[in-house]
Amino acid sequence: MGQPIVPILTAGVWSEPAVEEFTPVHNPSVGEVIFRTPMCGAREVDAAVQASTVAYASWSKTPPTKRAGVMFRYRELLEQHYEELSQTIVRENGKTLEEARGDVRRGLEVVELACAIGQLAKGESLPRVADGVDGVTMREPIGVCAGITPFNFPAMVPMWMFPIALACGNAFILKPSEKVPLTANRLGELLGEAGLPEGVFNIVHGGRDVVAALCTHPGITAISFVGSSPVAKYVYETGCANGKRVQSAGGAKNVLLALPDAAPDPTIRAIMGSAFGCAGQRCMAGSLLMGIGGATHDLRDQVVAAMDDLVVDDTLANADAGMGPVIDGGAQSRLFERIDESARTGTKVVRDGREQPHERGFFVAPTLFDEVTPDHPTYGEELFGPVLSVMHPRTLAEAIEWINRIPYGNAGTIFTSSGSAARQFALEAECGMIGINLGVPAPMALFSFSGWDRSFYGDLHVQGTEGVLFYTRQKTVLSRWDDNYVRVQGW
Ligand code: NAD
Repeated sequence: MGQPIVPILTAGVWSEPAVEEFTPVHNPSVGEVIFRTPMCGAREVDAAVQASTVAYASWSKTPPTKRAGVMFRYRELLEQHYEELSQTIVRENGKTLEEARGDVRRGLEVVELACAIGQLAKGESLPRVADGVDGVTMREPIGVCAGITPFNFPAMVPMWMFPIALACGNAFILKPSEKVPLTANRLGELLGEAGLPEGVFNIVHGGRDVVAALCTHPGITAISFVGSSPVAKYVYETGCANGKRVQSAGGAKNVLLALPDAAPDPTIRAIMGSAFGCAGQRCMAGSLLMGIGGATHDLRDQVVAAMDDLVVDDTLANADAGMGPVIDGGAQSRLFERIDESARTGTKVVRDGREQPHERGFFVAPTLFDEVTPDHPTYGEELFGPVLSVMHPRTLAEAIEWINRIPYGNAGTIFTSSGSAARQFALEAECGMIGINLGVPAPMALFSFSGWDRSFYGDLHVQGTEGVLFYTRQKTVLSRWDDNYVRVQGW
């Protein structure tokens, strides 16, 4: 393999690490290798921790207004490089340009949140908590933090983490997905241009060895992880066992429930966007579609018609492409196997994603299973691809009961004109994010990303105000001063 090597960032210096193992970075639309990610290990992590520790000493004492100043400049640079970043995402991830723009925009909104750090990280005070005693709490940075991110949102997910961590006064080490390292590196370069001091932000590339080193290194205080549930659980357990605070977001199996009174056209558009946007590779993707009783057949037919209109193609070459490829050959074969196995075991496959082969690239066409029940092998399984399963509950109560049997707890959406039904759904569905008449109820930057159950391990969630709490620790100062001192002095 002669493709260029993706550099790492340590103490403000970009370099090619001396490693022997590399992972190919593909353009998934055509399947060609465009870069190689160096698979670093404990040595590179240790160098990043040393650099971060040195930089943290002064960055943590930099006034919040100055830290916010870096974020304001960063925000402007992200706007200036918005199209370039979006194109980079399309190239290494394969999603459409519109989806890539959304990826950058959602991350940029977290940077905007971080600009308000002075307000967000302020403590509380209560004078006269006892005679002559005043109480003050302050929030201080926690040290060197690390972020480990997945392939599906190369800009947004890293930016759920580092803008808030840095604005709070911490140093940060990013370990992006080895499948999409290019966007992360560009985000790092722009941070330098924004005036962030060297060493405050470092990037180490790699996979499980780097993750293991981050979770166990004594110089790291906190770990933020987003990825699949088995790895989320491993990171949570290993990080906690090594004395770190950990927030660890995992996978999902999200339900879209359309009641018979839902507005037809917007509901079908929302279902299509949710199930097949980003080729189904979103932790908020709807992958179980429920109607109620006989109305489910109409719903399914409308979705099938929309699926047949969806153009699946190279997202760089074809501006009409509404859906791109999945991330790599491994994901493509895994999905083909799951479709094959479902078909063999009697699942009603209404549209089969294996039937629209592309000569190049890692394409899986939109797939629809019908008459899926809670005992179906894929019912509680995250497929993470463009596969939608239709279920036929008889009542709203049965739909909610089925939702609550799913081991994940990320998101559930209801489409309805009834406030009463929406309220019952919002109160009774056991998942951390609820949508009412929208397909992807992903919280904006001001709110935290609040998955439950197998979708999240930890306490404080990523981004939003919980992000600020996660990246700071509270100090309480009680002061006693003699009430009579001034009088005694005669002043
Ligand atoms: P992944 O779990 O394979 O990888 C995530 C990160 O963990 C990567 O940086 C990877 O290098 C590392 N990693 C992978 N295997 C590892 C191992 N065995 N030991 C240690 N580290 C390992 O996830 P992915 O395929 O990149 O992303 C898709 C997953 O992420 C899906 O499950 C999706 O639902 C989830 N996701 C969740 C959220 C959320 O907010 N809950 C958001 C985006 C994606």
